[in-house]
Amino acid sequence: MSTATTVHRIFNFAAGPAVLPLPVLEEVQRDMLALPGVGMSVMEISHRSKTFEAILGQAVADVKELAGVPEGYHVLFLQGGASTQFSMVPMNLLAAGATADYIVTGAWGQKAVKEAKRVGAVNVASTTEADNFSRLPKAEEVKLTPGAAYVHTTSNETIHGVEFKQEPAFGDAPLVCDTSSNMFSKPIDVPRYALIYAGAQKNLGPAGVTIVILRDDLLARSPATLPTMLNYNTHAKENSLYNTPPAFAIYVVGLVMKWLKANGGLAGIAERNERKAGKLYVEIDRTGFYRGHAAKDCRSNMNVTFRLPSEELEAEFAKQAKAAGMDGLKGHRSVGGMRASIYNAFPEEGVDTLVAFMKEFEKKNG
Ligand code: PMP
Repeated sequence: MSTATTVHRIFNFAAGPAVLPLPVLEEVQRDMLALPGVGMSVMEISHRSKTFEAILGQAVADVKELAGVPEGYHVLFLQGGASTQFSMVPMNLLAAGATADYIVTGAWGQKAVKEAKRVGAVNVASTTEADNFSRLPKAEEVKLTPGAAYVHTTSNETIHGVEFKQEPAFGDAPLVCDTSSNMFSKPIDVPRYALIYAGAQKNLGPAGVTIVILRDDLLARSPATLPTMLNYNTHAKENSLYNTPPAFAIYVVGLVMKWLKANGGLAGIAERNERKAGKLYVEIDRTGFYRGHAAKDCRSNMNVTFRLPSEELEAEFAKQAKAAGMDGLKGHRSVGGMRASIYNAFPEEGVDTLVAFMKEFEKKNG
């Protein structure tokens, strides 16, 4: 009999879609043909059925429990990826005549700005582009707009590997955060935020669903003229069931939340993530053969970006690593070099394997 555990799985360092927890995949596989007691798969049942309502309700409840979402917030499961949030955020929250502040620490923040500018007035309150997004802004570099509609920030820049180590704090305006690549990799202080969003396909589940955690008072801002599907009120009122939701993706997110709860919650996962990333950064810093892209105080625990002495060696590194069962290590072309994405479900054994490979590669080529 072939099961997921007998299949050979490589170490998947991809930036997203990314590795999912094996027990989750095994449960999906086990129940693929028929959910227990239902006789149909989750992809075949009505989204209005009691079964699906229970799956959705449990996923929302587990998101709330894990992150400590207080009363007064909605947890929404939307479609269109985090990229659609780049538009929905300003469409709903940025009234005519108002200005939104954007803190740009990488390529995703830039994309968020580009979309917001189509909607209204945007102030880039700070950008570290001149340093190829290798660091976070210093407090004195941030020029906030008094009375801004909101401040938008990106908690972890997936391409550059730059992460806020403390929760971002930028003045008094409602804080909106794109947490696509580090949501639930560590505890999060939800009350600090007005709106948090993340595409699921890195730490939370498969592609196809976007989680939005939204403070209720913001709902009053959405103009009634917005297209129905792009208005947060539509989804808040209907508990993410206004139209057919991405049922399979929500189901898997629910299983990932269950897995997180069974594995020490966000504090437990944070400890493991810190340890995994720490091992890689120690190796990067060991001799100078490898060079980290991000400044030390803002190195990402999710996307570890580093260079080698030459582009030839980088190409060779990626090729040999792949042959050794480690895929997805080639960095984004805008940064070059390597990127090891080591999200929640990435096994520590894979990090140890990469570290051993790095030592060996340096011995042969250093
Ligand atoms: N923001 C960040 C930080 C991301 O890493 C990504 C995807 N890599 C996006 C936004 C875009 O997400 P999506 O593909 O779900 O639109």
